[in-house]
Amino acid sequence: MKVGVLALQGDVPEHLRALGSTVAGGNLKPVRTSADLAALDALFLPGGESTTIARLMREGGLWHPLALRLEQGFPVLATCAGLILLARELAPGPSGRDPPTFGVLDVRVRRNDYGAQRESFEAPVRIEGMRGAPFPGVFIRAPRILEIGNAAEPFAWRGDEVVGVRQGSLWGTTFHPELSDDLRLHRLFLATLRRAR
Ligand code: GLN
Repeated sequence: MKVGVLALQGDVPEHLRALGSTVAGGNLKPVRTSADLAALDALFLPGGESTTIARLMREGGLWHPLALRLEQGFPVLATCAGLILLARELAPGPSGRDPPTFGVLDVRVRRNDYGAQRESFEAPVRIEGMRGAPFPGVFIRAPRILEIGNAAEPFAWRGDEVVGVRQGSLWGTTFHPELSDDLRLHRLFLATLRRAR
């Protein structure tokens, strides 16, 4: 399976490092062009700044090719800013201008919804299908999932709050699995895809 990490802005090296132990070097690629994208079986959308990532995707001609692949059911694990870019709808929030989104993941989210006081925190996250200790959730200027439509389902919780949703092979989290040393979520996503193939 060929796996890519969108490498325009954000925590790209961290995703590549997390995947490095699971995916053979030749099958793991930073994605900067539509040609990079075409060769892939799955993509990781990193955390970072969603407005910047959206702008760079448009400028680099990646927006439309990715939109097309998403329509065809392209598997994606999207974290934080990545989740924002997939969301069906963004609720107006404190951060002013919102980016355009692909609108494929049936959730309504609000950017930076945990407020200035708590811009960053770590909290245990329960993940469906994951054994062992709770997952260390790293939340940085995280979006909040306000509403989950019928097409999507929760798979990760911080207490009672949903912090991860999936819709077939589209997975999105408000936290950053790439910023912890815990590789279980990257592995669970890839193992689930392999099983489905
Ligand atoms: N607040 C950022 C945004 O709106 C997301 C934060 C992150 O990815 N850590 O894009």
